[in-house]
Amino acid sequence: MKNSDSHRSSRQCAPNYYQILGVSRSATSSEIKDAFRLLAKKFHPDFNPQNRSFAEAKMKEINIAYETLKDSEKRREYDRNYPEKREATHSQNTRQWDWYSNNYSRGEATPKKPAKQGRGSDIRLNIKISLEAAFSGSRGKVTYERQRRCPSCRGIGKLFGRICSRCRGSGFIAEKLAKEIQIPPGVRDGHELRIPYGGHEGRTKNSFGMLYITIRILPHKCFSFLGNNLCQTVSAARSLLKSGTKICAPTIEGKTIRMFIPAGTRPGTIFRLRHLGWPAAFTGTRGDMLIKISETSTA
Ligand SMILES: [Zn+2]
Repeated sequence: MKNSDSHRSSRQCAPNYYQILGVSRSATSSEIKDAFRLLAKKFHPDFNPQNRSFAEAKMKEINIAYETLKDSEKRREYDRNYPEKREATHSQNTRQWDWYSNNYSRGEATPKKPAKQGRGSDIRLNIKISLEAAFSGSRGKVTYERQRRCPSCRGIGKLFGRICSRCRGSGFIAEKLAKEIQIPPGVRDGHELRIPYGGHEGRTKNSFGMLYITIRILPHKCFSFLGNNLCQTVSAARSLLKSGTKICAPTIEGKTIRMFIPAGTRPGTIFRLRHLGWPAAFTGTRGDMLIKISETSTA
């Protein structure tokens, strides 16, 4: 494994502290403080005995974010270094969910009672996104149909002793929904978003099931995964490999890296560029980019 200097020009991607605290970029210091207090309460390891290690990791993340954002000087510096990307303009009524909880706190009880109480059933959907969208996070709409309790007969199926004409006696009607979802940056294939109240409605009013959205990442033309490392193959002519040459390689951010490979580099040699891979969950520390050299058939 050889290293190159060219990665130095690329800035390491930091975790989004605003997103971690669930506040907007323009949040006041008291809003940040409130958000921190709520999260600190929610993820206090003592209150999460079943998910202690998750809660501890989460607390660490929340603390780091708060330490930076509560200090106006540090916050300014953070804003300067990591300006707002394609991050959604955060509207107050959009729920910002915590994507780690989807992965690690599956055992956590949902506040709703299970189906016995007439809760509607859950809905599962898949969405396909590009690797770039998974890396930087994205916002979009999913459209789907769900069952709602019939508003005329209130789910009974009958009105004044006769079959309800609106739902034809079933007690339910269909509703088309376009739900706005936010995919957090750095998700992996198979990542699941959990959206409370997104599922079907049961017989009781507002007794919605969950909506589960599984994210599938489309295959990429250049990159493949090896753990948190991104791999790609770059080819050069045999004569250039012999003499040493400059090669260009794309990054997941859409930049191009130019690096020099030394004379006599053999096909199959792998160069490692640090911190140009995929961000790890919790820490946000990025894996590496592995560039495998191959030889083009022309000499
Ligand atoms: Zn009805």
